Amino acid sequence: MNKLTKIIATIGPSSENKEVIEKLIKEGVDVFRFNFKHNTVDWHEKILNKVISSSEKIKKNIATLIDLQGPEVRLKILKNLDKIELFKGKRLIVGEDIEFSHKEVLKKIKNDQKIFVDDGAFSFRSLWSGKKLILESEKNGFLKDRKTANFPGVNFDFPSLTVRDLDGVRLACREKMDFIALSFVRSKKDIQDLKKEIKKYEFYPKIIAKIETEKAIKNIDEILDEADGVMVARGDMGIEIPIEQVPYYQKMIIKKAKEKNKFVITATQMLKSMVSFLIPTRAEVSDVANACYDETDAVMLSEETAGGKYPVETVKKMKEIILFNENKFPKKIEINFERFMEKEEIIAKNLVDIINLSREKSKSIDAVIVFTETGKTARVISSFRPHLPIIAVVPNKNIALSLMVCYGIYPVVYSEDKGKEITLSSIEKVIDKIKKIGFSFKNTLVIHGDFWRVKGKISVMRFYNF
Ligand code: PGA
Ligand code: MN
Repeated sequence: MNKLTKIIATIGPSSENKEVIEKLIKEGVDVFRFNFKHNTVDWHEKILNKVISSSEKIKKNIATLIDLQGPEVRLKILKNLDKIELFKGKRLIVGEDIEFSHKEVLKKIKNDQKIFVDDGAFSFRSLWSGKKLILESEKNGFLKDRKTANFPGVNFDFPSLTVRDLDGVRLACREKMDFIALSFVRSKKDIQDLKKEIKKYEFYPKIIAKIETEKAIKNIDEILDEADGVMVARGDMGIEIPIEQVPYYQKMIIKKAKEKNKFVITATQMLKSMVSFLIPTRAEVSDVANACYDETDAVMLSEETAGGKYPVETVKKMKEIILFNENKFPKKIEINFERFMEKEEIIAKNLVDIINLSREKSKSIDAVIVFTETGKTARVISSFRPHLPIIAVVPNKNIALSLMVCYGIYPVVYSEDKGKEITLSSIEKVIDKIKKIGFSFKNTLVIHGDFWRVKGKISVMRFYNF
């Protein structure tokens, strides 16, 4: 059985070898996330190739996502150390013991200001001594290199991309990665800047705005309009705004994303205890299930698969939680016609008529098959969360992979018969392909235009039993 909510897994030392990658794919990963804040370009390229060859071997569509640092501040440890021991009262001198990834930070730091590092595991007070900035630790423990630093309430005006991010964009476009995510987005301008950079390469991956700052939450509407999708990045969000507000904004962002036909990823700490233990906490299991009930498109694993002890078991557990809970959803196609008309006039009019006609019948269908040249119609249908698999029949692999993050969508490439009329025999060809990837449905709703890959309206809907 196939799940509808997608799984994104971050690649790292625990998952970089081919055997683990293959197991993760078999257990249900749909998208691999490459965290460009770590490792070298060569490392990313090498692992990327392993992911691609594994997906070809297993014959499963697997998309890739690169996650860029953007205006996210990281704390670098100097003197060639990869960690430092901290205790309450220990003082670190900026420029001697540590430095920030963005030098401009110093201009905004005042005396006696609180700074959080590594998801809040460490905190410091700032202390200016002449021109020297000192950070005084409030916690004990070992701080690792390149952890994120948060300055709640401070607005920085750094550029949207770091110099290193430019290498990330080049890599992503050269290797035809499917998604580029940008951390610490503040407004639509950050997304526009990223788009400008991407445009140089004439390749168009889908763009994900990570929502983790107060400013991004305020500007959520314009950001959703500009990006292809968003990520509820709860790790940093829980420091940038009071932690108790995170569930509220998770629900708000998911709801808005669905309304605007944008995809949404729920991320961070979903099964965090599985970094070290085989069994997740009840609260974590509820968190994954609740994200499904919120109707997120995808759930994401970070440390669990990148650095944890049990990457494969974690994905397996996540899939089990998703499958059980999704199965409790009522199977339905309920299209909000007014919104559909407003947002998608091109495809809407006929589709609305079609679905209106099929209201009664649609209760018994168990999958939707949609012929879509750009993937857009499939995404629109997905945004209504029909709680059914949506088989997107698309002309090429790039479009297929761009849909892998979307709720319920399973793409099938149908490159032949361009310009030809879509007939029962075309549908049968597609159904053969669907069977080959292991799906079997009884009653399907098939939605398509008159001619394959000819711009026009969605005009035909049939019920097909197989
Ligand atoms: P990160 O983003 O893992 O890159 O920090 C996700 C988050 O902050 O939740
Ligand atoms: Mn983050």
